[in-house]
Amino acid sequence: MDFPSKLLENAVNEVAQLPGIGKRTALRLVLFLLQQPSDQTMALSNSLLALRNDIKYCRSCHTISDNELCEICSNPSRDHATICVVEDIRDVMALENTQLYKGIYHVLGGKISPIDGIGPGQLNIKSLVEKVRNSKVNELIFALSSTMEGDTTNFYIYRQIKDCEIITSTIARGIAVGDELQYADEVTLGRSLLHRVPFDKEFKDL
Ligand SMILES: [Zn+2]
Repeated sequence: MDFPSKLLENAVNEVAQLPGIGKRTALRLVLFLLQQPSDQTMALSNSLLALRNDIKYCRSCHTISDNELCEICSNPSRDHATICVVEDIRDVMALENTQLYKGIYHVLGGKISPIDGIGPGQLNIKSLVEKVRNSKVNELIFALSSTMEGDTTNFYIYRQIKDCEIITSTIARGIAVGDELQYADEVTLGRSLLHRVPFDKEFKDL
């Protein structure tokens, strides 16, 4: 793609680095912004900069939060003895939308995936194991997507905490194998959560 303007080319190249955005789409977006009042571009850049500079991760569950402790972790009416293990904030948002879950979360920040070079050390697993060992946890619900990476991650965590006296469960497989949690509709996801199955039973059945 030949650009008559270096400024235009730079902007397009930056936008084209976003996932799922090719150069053509990037050009369309950049030209759209140029046609809008400059306030809009300013608001967009400022919100991204503020996000980048000021974002915090909850020190307990690692979800994206405006405060040191997220709203869920700091809410005394949530059941702090039930922890739902998820991959990222999109899963937290999806499960919160069901309005059926009253426990707290633990955001791993990904799944173990040797192909992508992601090992347990890059995920928030150690803090989860410590939480299970050091605080009053009754149940750990694995709600990772049912992929090989999700299953590997569940099993890795399970092995570290299996001597603890807690219930481990997984959300029921109303969620199809390979499906990402956040794409499930609220009713399906809510039902999967309510009909969760004991984790050790599940993998004995495999
Ligand atoms: Zn939190």
